[in-house]
Amino acid sequence: MSATQTHDLLRELSRAGVVVTAAGDRLHYRSETGQPIPAALIARLRDHKAELLAILAGKCPQRGHCWTCGVRLPLEPGLLYAQCAECAVAALGRLRGRGGGA
Ligand SMILES: [Zn+2]
Repeated sequence: MSATQTHDLLRELSRAGVVVTAAGDRLHYRSETGQPIPAALIARLRDHKAELLAILAGKCPQRGHCWTCGVRLPLEPGLLYAQCAECAVAALGRLRGRGGGA
């Protein structure tokens, strides 16, 4: 239920090299590093599916592009949009940096 928990999860996924995207009402995830995605992370993805979809879907995405910076991303057919790893980190940094400067 907590947005903070969901953003923490997104940060962990970003660190693990996992990109999460929304396709309709489904969540897709894949590893950017080629490493297997830990089962525990996948379980948490599923636990937070509704929250993750809400975050990803609320961004007026451009199909096939990062919904934050607009960089073109290599998406599989059926995926609508994604967030590049840099923007994922930046967005989480803004959350964390509230009231703190730099
Ligand atoms: Zn981006």
